[in-house]
Amino acid sequence: MSQVYNFSAGPAMLPAEVLKQAQEELLSWQGLGTSVMEISHRSPEFLAVAQESERDLRDLMAIPDNYTVLFMHGGGRGQFAAVPLNLAAKGQRAMHLVSGSWSKASVVEASKYIQADSADIRFERDGTIGASLDMMPELSTDTAFVHYCPNETVDGIELFGVPQTDKTIVADMSSNILSRPVNVADYGVIWAGAQKNIGPSGLSVVIVRSDLLGSPQADTPVILDYTAAANNESMFNTPPTYSWYLSGLVFKWLKQQGGVAAVEAINRQKAELLYECIDASALYNNRIAAENRSRMNVVFQLADESLNAEFLAQAKDNGLHALKGHRSVGGMRASIYNAMPLIGVQTLVEFMREFERTKG
Ligand SMILES: *Cc1c(COP(=O)(O)O)cnc(C)c1O
Repeated sequence: MSQVYNFSAGPAMLPAEVLKQAQEELLSWQGLGTSVMEISHRSPEFLAVAQESERDLRDLMAIPDNYTVLFMHGGGRGQFAAVPLNLAAKGQRAMHLVSGSWSKASVVEASKYIQADSADIRFERDGTIGASLDMMPELSTDTAFVHYCPNETVDGIELFGVPQTDKTIVADMSSNILSRPVNVADYGVIWAGAQKNIGPSGLSVVIVRSDLLGSPQADTPVILDYTAAANNESMFNTPPTYSWYLSGLVFKWLKQQGGVAAVEAINRQKAELLYECIDASALYNNRIAAENRSRMNVVFQLADESLNAEFLAQAKDNGLHALKGHRSVGGMRASIYNAMPLIGVQTLVEFMREFERTKG
């Protein structure tokens, strides 16, 4: 089989080394004669996986001791509900900063449970679009938290700062967790659906400052209840064990790469290479303001959109898969998460230059 680079936004590619190890261990894990999928989550063997994966994540992100790490069900949208249910009283206010599609979607879900205020922090400037945390609105005193999305997966907009407020900050890091160092202590909650930068879909990782636990709304479904999860080592009900195990392998892989700072350096290099190619071209165009250009999801349009289908078909023939942009924005999107090697982006850039040369 020839080499394929998978630019899918999510579920996204996993490190080849991780998949290989999972394959080798599939039928008999740790010499048990069964797969890790088939054993009790309460067995000593699985408990060791659970503890080690948490320890590795804590090391990678330098998570302080006063934070609890949860491995939960329900992916990203599960957390759109879990956040308001766990952090605000019924009808209490919370502010949602809207920088793109996912933060917009979080408001819709949160408004089922709380007074979900929102503020559009997007701007248009000199033909570019972006978002700015300086556009933070005045907050009423009873605001329980400020929710934002530091990387808008669909729009290709990344926010590199932290909102300036003394309220609890909640960050949806689904598509950029572990891509660069963050100061966990700046946040009340960091959460991420796993399928972009951690592991398989369905699992979500929640890092919550422990003093925020203890007051979920009374009718919170127990599988979304942070306090119940915390009190039961994320095993109140059966956790998604295989996704958890694979995520643990990804954490180990990240440590082998030298940790988050080392991976960030490669992520910068990958993103710069691709944006340079786009900027130097007359065919490709990226409209995101320089300070908001995502290092994880690079969106671009072809000046001649009638070439889109041919671009995608030829890319696929060259082993460059899943470059089609989200249906809501069109064009192209190259998702270049941690698992995408530099050579994958170099191959894409070579292809893009060659495609432009033949069409130009
Ligand atoms: C993918 C994604 C989500 C939604 O994740 P699901 O698991 O599909 O619910 C939410 N937020 C961001 C930033 C995402 O990239």
